[in-house]
Amino acid sequence: MSGHEPAAALFADRFGGEPDGLWRAPGRVNLIGEHTDYNDGFVLPFAIDRAAHVAVALREDRTVRIASTFEGGDTIETTLDDIADRRFSGWSAYPFGVVWAFGEAGTDLAAVRGFDLAVDSDVPVGAGLSSSAAIEMATAVALNDLWEVGADRAALARIGRRAENVAVGAPTGIMDQAASVFGEADAAVFLDCRTIEVEQVPLGFAAAGLALLVVDTKVEHAHATGGYRDRREACERAAKELGVPALRDVALTDLPDAEQRLDPVTFRRVRHIVTEDARVLRSVEALKEHHTAAFGALMYESHASMRDDFEISVPELDTVVEVARSRGAVGARMTGGGFGGSAIALLPADEADALAEAVVAAFAERGYREPASFRVVPAAGAGRLA
Ligand code: ADP
Ligand code: MG
Repeated sequence: MSGHEPAAALFADRFGGEPDGLWRAPGRVNLIGEHTDYNDGFVLPFAIDRAAHVAVALREDRTVRIASTFEGGDTIETTLDDIADRRFSGWSAYPFGVVWAFGEAGTDLAAVRGFDLAVDSDVPVGAGLSSSAAIEMATAVALNDLWEVGADRAALARIGRRAENVAVGAPTGIMDQAASVFGEADAAVFLDCRTIEVEQVPLGFAAAGLALLVVDTKVEHAHATGGYRDRREACERAAKELGVPALRDVALTDLPDAEQRLDPVTFRRVRHIVTEDARVLRSVEALKEHHTAAFGALMYESHASMRDDFEISVPELDTVVEVARSRGAVGARMTGGGFGGSAIALLPADEADALAEAVVAAFAERGYREPASFRVVPAAGAGRLA
């Protein structure tokens, strides 16, 4: 195993010897399609060139040990039986949640061997790039191989999602995990969240001289989880009132009727979801035809819809988008659940650094915390490295 592999080095340090293998799963950024996943709708994320790596070896007994290079964490030790009883907390809930979810999905946790797992990740935590899905999916692909479960990628994404839902207790959709397993170099993952049907859409940003810049506003709102839940509940209530299984089933042409039947706030929530689904479909068409400008315009529209109709933006995110627009970026929008986190901008690669600096200056002028910017490149999805 490569001496430059921090996960393997941590494995040797904590557990001794060589792991059975090394697996990788990336974080993701969502190009467009926000809050549509739990409405059975469409999303268009891509797997990024930052990933969690896990070095894993099976054991002869039922002990499970994990360690991470993250914040100098201690080694955590438990047993498969405790995990099967859902006894886990802290960051270990992500890998242990995956083990538990394998059990829920049919793997007999009484019959498999324990393991030692060391993880190292360069996905920034809490920046809206899904460091959590990276850990989950790296663990999932590793155990799928070592335990010879034979789950396909959609099944692994479902296992990761269950881990996230159980570990964090957040009723999130399947986008993050699906992006992490279905990603491909230079492509986005067009995902139908109802059927889990996936189509990889070639992006060609680099060939067109474009870069995707992520700006982490460092804003973390205390009510982010509550705000997310509130929007989710509003969507579920609206679907019920409109007599459809999910808002995915409301067409653009149904909106005037929906406006008559819903209170004004709920109607605006619905309008965001319905128009956002339409924007994802139009984005896929635009990207397939290399109409980058048309896709960029949809990014700006998506941001306006989240700011005005879904009301999940914050002034810092709006500032990033304003600055990007004023500097002529092809497109820009907030990305992720909202109430803070990151915004993305698509722009000529040689203008990315200047935009990052302009955003820092605009934030300083407005008295906001200093943001962090970095480029991300669409990269391959989860798999075995060695
Ligand atoms: P994100 O948007 O980055 O996914 P989350 O709050 O969903 O943010 O997940 C972040 C959590 O995932 C961290 O608080 C930690 O528990 C876990 N995590 C992420 N990366 C690592 C890592 N390298 N090692 C251990 N735990 C990690
Ligand atoms: Mg997460």
